[in-house]
Amino acid sequence: MHRVLVNSVVRNCLILAAGVGLIFMLFPNLIHALLRSDQFMPHATCYLRNPQMIWLHVSSDLVIGISYVCISTTLAFLVWKASRDIPFHWMFLAFGLFIVTCGFTHFMEVWTVWQPVYWLAGYVKLICGIASAATALALFPLVPKVFALINSVRLSERRKADLESANHDLEAFAYTVSHDLRAPLRAIQGYATAFDLDFEKDLQPEAKKYLARISEASKRMESLLSDMLQYSRVSRTEIQLSPVSLQSAIGDATRELQADINQSQAEMVLEPPLPDVIANTMLLTQVLSNLLSNALKFVPNGIRPRVQVRAREHDGFVRVSVTDNGIGIPPEYREKIFGVFQRLHTEEEYPGTGIGLAIVQKAMLRMNGRVGVDSPSAGGSCFWIELPKADSTAYGDGSEPSETVNP
Ligand code: ADP
Repeated sequence: MHRVLVNSVVRNCLILAAGVGLIFMLFPNLIHALLRSDQFMPHATCYLRNPQMIWLHVSSDLVIGISYVCISTTLAFLVWKASRDIPFHWMFLAFGLFIVTCGFTHFMEVWTVWQPVYWLAGYVKLICGIASAATALALFPLVPKVFALINSVRLSERRKADLESANHDLEAFAYTVSHDLRAPLRAIQGYATAFDLDFEKDLQPEAKKYLARISEASKRMESLLSDMLQYSRVSRTEIQLSPVSLQSAIGDATRELQADINQSQAEMVLEPPLPDVIANTMLLTQVLSNLLSNALKFVPNGIRPRVQVRAREHDGFVRVSVTDNGIGIPPEYREKIFGVFQRLHTEEEYPGTGIGLAIVQKAMLRMNGRVGVDSPSAGGSCFWIELPKADSTAYGDGSEPSETVNP
């Protein structure tokens, strides 16, 4: 990045120097005209060659000139780095130009202490005057726009607060619905089972088939409700963020899935090192468990699942990737699958509710992390999560023992 900045500064300076050189080549007398001193006397003579007076002026003008150049360079750097995010960024450039020309008038003050190049000093002042006047004129029409911007920021802050409150209400509603619907659902399941047991002999085959459908549908509804409840809990529970061992979180998640791993005879490859991260133990285990269980599940029939977990560090963050040899995900669905109830397959092809990845995304958000999915060239999918490294500055200086994140 620094090399790009230096290259761009050097390139612009060279263009400027070439432009100035061209002007002097076309008008060779210009240099002479600008540098002529006529019968003028240098400022030092006015100061009666008093060394204290001379150095007082020279040092002050130098400091002012250098500071102006630094300020305008910083403004130009800001605009170059964030022109899209800075409103009216051209105004910053105008300020930069105005300030840098002011700086040059002070450099000229230093020069004229010993050399009476007042023509050149005058023209530098003229350029500064033009830049100042242009900036002042451009500033006036900006005032109402700045007020409009302030108002729209206030409005969007109010909207954000309204949205957060509505979101909170919605989460509370989802929690209550998913929690309270479980009791009547259990009653339906209980009565369907009792009906089947008590009247088994009297039931026609058709009636038995209907009962089996009721039982299947209520089981599906139960798993949907329980996943919804889990999703609501991830949003609402107060959590602590602290250093967590990735190794042990992966171990816990793998143990939870041991039955599936045994059944599918999956090959699990954990590549060390697995550094500690800043997270919440419960949420991180749940995230890993969801990703691993999908990696085991979405594999074509007859293929032995191979799941590889590895971690890479960069810029104070740890990226944990879970790569499988499964059916893969078409690029156009890679964002969609993180939505609630979003599935790419029928229940018959691959069982599930479509909430697992929504839980992963919500949990990562709550842990100040990120989640995404890539397609390895060898096929399958590669889900990754990113969290601050435990001893990195990405999470303060690592000395903070824990952080509480409110729902
Ligand atoms: P569920 O697993 O209950 O279907 P998820 O939210 O975990 O729900 O996943 C959403 C959808 O994303 C899945 O239905 C599947 O289509 C797709 N998906 C998730 N993980 C994988 C994976 N490892 N390989 C292929 N497809 C996947």
